[in-house]
Amino acid sequence: MRKIVVVHKKIAKCKGPLTPGATELLQTIKNEAAEYTVIWTGGSKYQVSTHFNDHQDQRVVSLDERTCSCRRWDLTGIPCRHAVACIWDMGLHGRGDGVPEKWVHPVYWLETWKEVYKHTVEPVNGSDLWPKSACPTTLIPPKYHAQVGRPKKKRKKSAVEVAEAKAASQEKKEGKK
Ligand SMILES: [Zn+2]
Repeated sequence: MRKIVVVHKKIAKCKGPLTPGATELLQTIKNEAAEYTVIWTGGSKYQVSTHFNDHQDQRVVSLDERTCSCRRWDLTGIPCRHAVACIWDMGLHGRGDGVPEKWVHPVYWLETWKEVYKHTVEPVNGSDLWPKSACPTTLIPPKYHAQVGRPKKKRKKSAVEVAEAKAASQEKKEGKK
């Protein structure tokens, strides 16, 4: 009950369109994506690369399939830096809206979060205000019954250990003779 209220308060503070965690993550991705150059290879495929700070990184993004060869988009549902660079490029060339938020999986949408937490739990009165039950019998716990035997505490020895112990005892006997 309390958790739901906490989430309701959090949701009320959010502007959207994504949940706070996703918004923050996408912002970091956007900052990284600004360093990338995009080459459209026709269809829905793009070659995305950067040489920022001597760090080479070149990947293939397919916007139709919502995948990138770095696999981050496939795994998280949030477009990776390569995909964001492509989405911006599409927008610049009039082939799409250019809004990365629209490419994020619905689980990260604020609307989805609201939908999940839209139900509230009814508050409950103290037991002195509860109606008396009409059930004639009183339920009592079952009788305790101790099980036969007790669980073994010692570890079961392996066949090798048993054989070694046998051989050792035989040697002892022969030694005494
Ligand atoms: Zn990627």
